[in-house]
Amino acid sequence: MGACGATAAHRPPSILQARAAAAERGAAAGRGRWQGPGRGVGRTSGGRRPNGIKPVELEQQASFKDPFPDAPVTAIIGGGLAGLTCAQELARCGLQATIFDTGEHGVGGRLATRCSLDGSLKGAPAGLLFDHAAQFFTATDPAFTSMVHRWEADGAVMRWTGPVGMLADGHFVPDDGQGAVRWVARGGMRQLAQYLAGQAHRPGEAARGPSSPGSGTAAAALVTVRRPQWISGAQAEPEGWRLVGRGRDQGLFDMAVIAHNGKCANRLAAPMRGAEAVHRQLRRLKLSANWVLMAAFASPVAAPGGLQGAFVSGSQVLGWAANNTAKLGGPAQGGVQCWTLISTQAYGRLNKVPQENVPPEVAQRVTAEMLAAFTRCLGLPEGALPPLVFTQAQLWGAALPTNSLHVPCLFDPSARVGVCGDWVAGGGSMQAAALSGVAMAQRIVAASGQQGDALRGLALGLDVPLRAVQGEQIGQFPGKQAAPAADAHTSAAAQTAAPAGKQPSLGAY
Ligand SMILES: Cc1cc2nc3c(=O)[nH]c(=O)nc-3n(C[C@H](O)[C@H](O)[C@H](O)COP(=O)(O)OP(=O)(O)OC[C@H]3O[C@@H](n4cnc5c(N)ncnc54)[C@H](O)[C@@H]3O)c2cc1C
Repeated sequence: MGACGATAAHRPPSILQARAAAAERGAAAGRGRWQGPGRGVGRTSGGRRPNGIKPVELEQQASFKDPFPDAPVTAIIGGGLAGLTCAQELARCGLQATIFDTGEHGVGGRLATRCSLDGSLKGAPAGLLFDHAAQFFTATDPAFTSMVHRWEADGAVMRWTGPVGMLADGHFVPDDGQGAVRWVARGGMRQLAQYLAGQAHRPGEAARGPSSPGSGTAAAALVTVRRPQWISGAQAEPEGWRLVGRGRDQGLFDMAVIAHNGKCANRLAAPMRGAEAVHRQLRRLKLSANWVLMAAFASPVAAPGGLQGAFVSGSQVLGWAANNTAKLGGPAQGGVQCWTLISTQAYGRLNKVPQENVPPEVAQRVTAEMLAAFTRCLGLPEGALPPLVFTQAQLWGAALPTNSLHVPCLFDPSARVGVCGDWVAGGGSMQAAALSGVAMAQRIVAASGQQGDALRGLALGLDVPLRAVQGEQIGQFPGKQAAPAADAHTSAAAQTAAPAGKQPSLGAY
């Protein structure tokens, strides 16, 4: 079967019928379906599960004996942008997928928004809203650009036209008109993820046809989202991959897609017997750490040029600052302004602690250092920032890839395992993540019903070396032209090259 160029609605009925029948068979066999508590699976020392079913004997590099299923049912482990677009594209091609995601407050991963309304900001006063990781995105690839235009037509994203540019020593240089359009999600990045998962509710919105890739309503019937659900293991059985989370069986799937990175992905892939080639590539991935400080000020910050967002130049501490209240509009009242400050990667590395358990004294020190750096960058005297009504410092320990495979996705068709995500497709950008998810789905579609050399020929990225990525401290922005540099220390490379082990002193910037 070839790639799914046509929409599901336009596909020959025979294929759709075959898929529906296969999906029913899969469902009847419990494939990809919740099988209830108490049916947990676990690897045993003899390779035999407690219920007596012997897992398929896999060599170091496994091959499923049967042809790739004609209507594969896919498990996508990770509900970030890549996992979501993968599921959307599979659904557009008439294939079922289940997304598993750990998100407590919603899907999205690094499309993260924190908001007082939904409890994602602990102890915050009402009305605060912060984009907590991805700040805005650009689109240069034609396929991604048309996806974004559909999101815009659906009201999920909008253009950010406020002053954004480069900030150094109190000087702000806007980059207006110099590069690609800046896009942001209405209501914060997490809303875009919710929309893609078909979970966003827009009163009065009419349902759209099920034919456009990247449309939030397209996939509803074929995509299942299970959240919050951690997947801790995957085990090959003759029929496919069985997933385990919190010690419980999460179902049997024809194909497993790892749509996340970092330690979690390593931990998951390492024991996946038969997915060694995939795991080898995952082990080579290098990731930055970045601190993010969410700070709400009681009154407007005196920002030069009325800047709404700025890449910070020449600071060892600060890489980015954005006024979310101006960017997103939203509920902040009485002059309160919500700012997101993101550290440089060098600062993140020097101040790395366990992300799940940040010692309070570290959070306090980082907060003070980032605020001091912000003051300096704005060109304000010490103590000149308005009073704070809320701060929260958090570390993204696996923030941004610093190397990439530079291929659309990673696919081992014999082992029926794939990986998609920003790090696979070129670096830390929403464009890379979205395109990687779509490419992953298209490989699965192309593999459907194939076997032998035709199937093996669809392998991708298993042997290519990872290469370093260049960009800003907070990722890559395709099409963005470099703003005029204010001094010699502006490049990401210069900032990341801060002497290892040397802690910036309080107020260093
Ligand atoms: C601080 C920061 C600022 C950024 N700024 C920008 C920006 O301005 N513009 C831009 O284009 N990009 C930016 N990026 C990068 C952008 O956010 C990412 O490239 C993109 O969101 C990656 O999407 P993804 O789907 O590949 O991965 P992720 O978003 O990381 O999604 C992975 C998901 O998998 C889940 N998961 C992990 N392990 C498991 C498991 N075992 N079981 C179930 N679920 C699991 C995670 O919880 C997560 O939800 C930024 C990133 C950071 C960290």
